[in-house]
Amino acid sequence: MSKMRAVQVTRPNGPFEIVEREIPEPAVGSVRVKVEACGVCHSDSFTKEGTWPGIQYPRVPGHEIAGIIDAVGTGVVGWTPGQRVGVGWHGGHCGYCDSCRRGDFVTCQIAFQVPGIAYDGGYADYMIAPAGVLALLPEALSAVDAGPLMCAGITTYNSLRHSGARPGDLVAVLGIGGLGHLGIQFAAKMGFKTVAIARGKDKEPLARKLGAQHYIDNETQDAAAELVKLGGAKVILATLTSGKAMSAVLGGLGVNGKLIIVGAADEPLEVNAFLFIGGRRSIIGWPSGNSIDSQDTLSFSVLTGVRAMTEVFPLERATEGYEEMMSGKARFRADLTTGN
Ligand SMILES: [Zn+2]
Ligand SMILES: [Zn+2]
Repeated sequence: MSKMRAVQVTRPNGPFEIVEREIPEPAVGSVRVKVEACGVCHSDSFTKEGTWPGIQYPRVPGHEIAGIIDAVGTGVVGWTPGQRVGVGWHGGHCGYCDSCRRGDFVTCQIAFQVPGIAYDGGYADYMIAPAGVLALLPEALSAVDAGPLMCAGITTYNSLRHSGARPGDLVAVLGIGGLGHLGIQFAAKMGFKTVAIARGKDKEPLARKLGAQHYIDNETQDAAAELVKLGGAKVILATLTSGKAMSAVLGGLGVNGKLIIVGAADEPLEVNAFLFIGGRRSIIGWPSGNSIDSQDTLSFSVLTGVRAMTEVFPLERATEGYEEMMSGKARFRADLTTGN
């Protein structure tokens, strides 16, 4: 067999087309991954809608990849066929810019690459990835479970573990969606006093099941005031896309508190300068992490039982999976499976 299935986009806002392609050969320094599952991420819209600067078509989306190394290119050391691996948002870097020379590949200034944007990603039976971006997949984790952890998982896990919050600190997660439902689990398992903030009462039982000790309905309650009552948040992880909702919780940050933005806000945030000067508060963003951070995310998830809630679609139904995810109907991530 030398052919494979791939789901490609040929133009901005074009449909997903399932096509037959030659199985690609790994170049020097790269491996071929036989894809088992690939999560559908909101950021796949960069490929679908053509909003990533310089994106070239046709392109196969997908950067939440879980599979098995199937072939190894020349010069690859430390990876062998048969190993189970994941590939996430960090899909390549230049290796020589200041960030790369500090080992901070995810902030590469010259040639940061995302699978499914810079090169063909995981909506296919096979994909090629540079060996340096692979994460080893633990035996105890299925491919379907691993996929969403490669982007949504690492982003919430890695931002929280570097947030400066310590066990027992008050950490709020704003929004219960694809990122938020993982953020709540990670925060609870890291030993933070975890607060979930979402619109309406109906999400409270789920939030508590995911590990939240407190629930704030920001439709009927003033979330900032409620956080102050709880002592002020050391960290608020902003996982939703509403800049307005993010601005509204800033008053809930305690002294030295941080708002960490991981959700792409639709409008600028409004900040009261005095609040930030007086209490040394801050706002930062966080971009996933390197391949070893992905591996840490997977290991921690096995250790603590953190899992994404996923709806599974066979590769042929990529359009449906994507639309469910974009419309927010999917609870909470969508995963494409190849049957490989
Ligand atoms: Zn993503
Ligand atoms: Zn670089």
